[in-house]
Amino acid sequence: MQSTDQIFSLLSQPRNVVITTHQKPDGDAMGSSLGLYNFLIQFGHSVTVISPTNWADFLNWMPGTKNVLDYERQTQDANKAIDDADWIFCLDFNTLNRTKRMEEKLGSAAGKRILLDHHQQPQVDKFAYGESDINKSSTCEMVYDFIIASGHEDKINGAVAECLYAGVMTDTGSFRFPATTANVHSMVAKLKEKGLDHGPVHEALYDNFLENRFRFLGNALLNRMEVFYEYNTALIAIPQADLIKYNIKTGDTEGLVNYPLSIQGIKLAAIIIDRGEERKSSFRSKGGFDVNTFARNYFNGGGHVNAAGGQNKEPFEEVVAMFIKAMKENKDQLSNYQF
Ligand code: 5GP
Ligand code: MN
Repeated sequence: MQSTDQIFSLLSQPRNVVITTHQKPDGDAMGSSLGLYNFLIQFGHSVTVISPTNWADFLNWMPGTKNVLDYERQTQDANKAIDDADWIFCLDFNTLNRTKRMEEKLGSAAGKRILLDHHQQPQVDKFAYGESDINKSSTCEMVYDFIIASGHEDKINGAVAECLYAGVMTDTGSFRFPATTANVHSMVAKLKEKGLDHGPVHEALYDNFLENRFRFLGNALLNRMEVFYEYNTALIAIPQADLIKYNIKTGDTEGLVNYPLSIQGIKLAAIIIDRGEERKSSFRSKGGFDVNTFARNYFNGGGHVNAAGGQNKEPFEEVVAMFIKAMKENKDQLSNYQF
């Protein structure tokens, strides 16, 4: 994988470009994809953003979302764009299987794959060019760095700024997580200079609940959460019946895993959701407990030190039992926690 500075001089020649990201894209995945999209279209490139799956409605305000293809629903159009692509930007994922049903098509594409990602252990041999940096707060920060390094800061317009701000805000937990470096704040300062109005972005992402989602949250915290004080751990386990009862859609469960971390002393928060086709888990930690390794070892997953996820095919009760067993196996690390 060569450095992306190798392609800077090629940016001004129009090309067919595909931008893709991980399945069920979150704020950073969609924000980085559309931030880059709104940057690249200014050069006259033909740019297609493809999401491997659907995404949460609360991301639809981002400039350019109406042109994003959903691979599962628009497979033919998406495959054609991949076939025609000279460049395929792969944003916010480290392994091709994070693109679910797109994996094979992406892996065999003739176009050059370009990685921008901040997850651990990327498949570097799959990419012609790229930057992988686990110290970056977000892929949006990496797209920003890419734009600045390419010498095209003048092309950061309102659309680019809003998209990049959305991703850096969500991936840093509103500028709270340790990866919120001086560079992150400088980036935001620059986006503000470019005219970013940050209030509406925050509102679109966080003050956009429907009543059913809010009541689902209440039920989850009241009835589905168990706290294991001995292990400084809390688990929320959501049966599929809850998703049906509260009419839960893609994205509605995002952020729920963070709530237990605000309980005094909790070091590891987990959520297991029975999505029917799979059991999706998310893990968040404070301090040194490494949930990337935890998710890799027990839940076919990965991510970052303090935020990771996984998925299992085993039945719901079994996955919950696996979590409790895994928690117990990590007792030493979890119980000797010092703030
Ligand atoms: P979330 O819990 O919000 O789905 O994901 C948290 C972090 O873990 C994200 O950076 C995400 O990319 C990563 N992650 C979530 N699920 C998986 C998974 O199944 N495999 C891998 N490798 N990473 C995951
Ligand atoms: Mn990210």
